[in-house]
Amino acid sequence: MVLSFFLAGFILFFIGTFFGSFFNVVADRLKNGESIILGRSHCEYCKKELEWEDLIPLISFIILKGRCRYCHKKLSFFYPVSEIITGILFACVFVFVFYPGQAGFSDAPYFKIASFLYYIFIVSSFIIIFLEDLKYGIIPDKVLFPAILISLIYLYINPQFMILNVISGLGAFMFFLLLFVFTGGKGMGFGDVKLAFLLGLVLGFPKILLSLYLAFLTGAIIGLILILWRKKASIKDAIPFAPFLITGSVITLFLGDLIITKIMVYLGLL
Ligand SMILES: [Zn+2]
Repeated sequence: MVLSFFLAGFILFFIGTFFGSFFNVVADRLKNGESIILGRSHCEYCKKELEWEDLIPLISFIILKGRCRYCHKKLSFFYPVSEIITGILFACVFVFVFYPGQAGFSDAPYFKIASFLYYIFIVSSFIIIFLEDLKYGIIPDKVLFPAILISLIYLYINPQFMILNVISGLGAFMFFLLLFVFTGGKGMGFGDVKLAFLLGLVLGFPKILLSLYLAFLTGAIIGLILILWRKKASIKDAIPFAPFLITGSVITLFLGDLIITKIMVYLGLL
């Protein structure tokens, strides 16, 4: 039982690395308005189409020592990083949904499979948005809107969380809308406002609060480090915020129940 569970998690990691490689390409193609599915992967410098042996996640990067086989320019470090992170998150989704006795999931097999596919889809959307905002400062509607729609459908088949999560989404949306209006759109973009709605829908209450707290905390720390390092001249230079929102949300998705229970016990509320 434990062994097969571990093996399945490893297979998910392996599959995830291929998706991670693809998501990095998707982020670039969304920015350039290229077709997401069509067209072979090519080196961004010499434009040479890559062969299958150049496209094996992690392994190709290691064998090629992080350089293009043809022009020997350094390959983007986003590739191995997004491959590893996607692999880890796919394995986390598997454990999160299928680990025996997980709260909030009905034991009906069809429901577990629906939950698994839903969270794989959501984590994938998160990774593409993360990459797109970090690299280009864009939160793509082409990823955000389908994620919102699929979340509403998932809540429809999982109705005990419907009202709470929709209210959480609207609450987060209003909070970010106020921030957006009061900072004159300089602090964050409208993309962050729309993203906040998705995060509330996915996480519900009180997890949305924890995720936003983690996002602002990590954002403040990284922002301060960048200013001290003089990578950014001042706070006025926009730092993409979606990566922090997504990081906070992913941590909360998998560990939120645990963290919130610890906080409640600490505060003497449990
Ligand atoms: Zn090249």
